[in-house]
Amino acid sequence: MPPSTSLNSVQFLQQLCNLVGADQVVSNTAAMSDWMTEPRGLFTGEALAVVRPADTAEVIAIVKASATAGVSIVPQGGNTGLCGGATPIPKNRSIVLSLSRLNQIRSVNPATNSLTAEAGCIVANIQQAAADAERLFPLSFAADGTAQVGGAIGTNAGGTNVLRYGNTRELVRGLEVVLPNGDLLDDLRGLRKDNTGYNLTHLFIGAEGTLGVVTAANLKLFAAPSQRHTAWLAINRIADGIDLLIDLQQLSGGAVSGCELISATSLEFALRHQLGCRAPLETDTSWYLLLELTGTGHNQALASLLENRLASGLENGTVVDAVIAQNLQQGETFWHIREGISEAQKHEGGSIKHDIALPIHRLAEFVDTTVPLLHQQMPGIRPCIFGHLGDGNLHFNLTQPAGMDKAEFLGRWSTFNRIVHDQVEKFGGSISAEHGIGQLKRGELARYKSPVALNLMRQIKQAIDPQNLMNPGKVLPDE
Ligand SMILES: Cc1cc2nc3c(=O)[nH]c(=O)nc-3n(C[C@H](O)[C@H](O)[C@H](O)COP(=O)(O)OP(=O)(O)OC[C@H]3O[C@@H](n4cnc5c(N)ncnc54)[C@H](O)[C@@H]3O)c2cc1C
Repeated sequence: MPPSTSLNSVQFLQQLCNLVGADQVVSNTAAMSDWMTEPRGLFTGEALAVVRPADTAEVIAIVKASATAGVSIVPQGGNTGLCGGATPIPKNRSIVLSLSRLNQIRSVNPATNSLTAEAGCIVANIQQAAADAERLFPLSFAADGTAQVGGAIGTNAGGTNVLRYGNTRELVRGLEVVLPNGDLLDDLRGLRKDNTGYNLTHLFIGAEGTLGVVTAANLKLFAAPSQRHTAWLAINRIADGIDLLIDLQQLSGGAVSGCELISATSLEFALRHQLGCRAPLETDTSWYLLLELTGTGHNQALASLLENRLASGLENGTVVDAVIAQNLQQGETFWHIREGISEAQKHEGGSIKHDIALPIHRLAEFVDTTVPLLHQQMPGIRPCIFGHLGDGNLHFNLTQPAGMDKAEFLGRWSTFNRIVHDQVEKFGGSISAEHGIGQLKRGELARYKSPVALNLMRQIKQAIDPQNLMNPGKVLPDE
């Protein structure tokens, strides 16, 4: 429980104004509205104020003042998360800590292939800073023009390059974190090797702000690719796509950086609603693959091995049709389709979305056995399945039958959650592989996470944040 405090809310807000300046403390309800809702409008919050520190020292001062006053803290980055993780829960006495002014790239070090960025840096700006140094920062997803790296760390974001470069956890070498008591955990040394006990950095990645406020990160960079080969394939079976991917990875020494699965329904939605989308092939099949191989240097091997492997697929029937982009621009038109699917889906009525992960060798069987269960439950339902096949992470989204009442469809949310998540559990997968748990999936976490793991998570939370001041009511289910 938070300690009782002698400060009332007005005095506390005055204290915050003294710490960061009155213009950086927003407490007017109307002015706070952008920070109080998440993009889908599933959660609406209330807070005493939104506070916008300029640097780590101000974050420390705010956290200490809040701990003394018993006020909880909700860290917020770009507010692109869709699970209510960055939305303050009305019943709590809390502030939103907006990190957007901590937006400096502190250093870029091409010699060690690393970069140190403050938590409020927009992910796309970090990509650009890396590109300016002829390096690649590979974290890339459809919201990277708004999401901040602190939020990406909070949710352990992945995206389209995970297959080759890993998710955020694999891209972070060290963190600077303000702990719930105001202590600073400072490890921005960027060491590749450090075997001095527990890996504390990893605790804060994917913690959704429940253990501390990330203020800066040392991030890994890579050689910038100088060649990019993008292909669009029509296939009949997911299993054929997986075999092709495994072959290409083997043949190219791991040069496949993207492998996106797109169902016929997803393609149809994008073509119908997204400006500038054109079908890359005339062939109609159940599934499509967007493949990308990237490499450095100028050898022709990657291009010819892709061509050869596709040719053998066409010959033995595992690939129905294929086109290799003739230039970067054409490749981008393929990606434009993939990136427009979520937006296109909104025009088709209500959606019940699942961001799940499966062991890749069980993914095809998962889809083949789950889709009939959905149709049994609701004839006419339109599964809109797409995602990062290469790392087993699927958007398993369900669109309402055409013409059905949207509210009636959304009222069946928990029925469909149960079908999909039970299947995920059966096939050894994860119910959350992208957006995190936030407020939305706490109940599901209680159901599917092992009691031993949950208990350990609770013990870690209690040890680091005994007053439960950091983003309370998120991630951990009620006991
Ligand atoms: C269109 C779209 C496409 C997406 N595609 C993908 C995808 O392909 N792969 C994928 O993995 N994800 C994807 N996502 C999810 C995405 O990874 C997250 O939305 C994003 O990383 C969150 O960043 P943010 O700055 O908006 O964080 P917010 O939404 O502001 O916060 C998210 C969580 O992190 C915490 N947090 C924020 N900043 C900090 C900080 N400095 N310290 C501690 N905790 C903090 C918050 O309290 C909250 O719990 C997508 C999201 C959208 C909207």
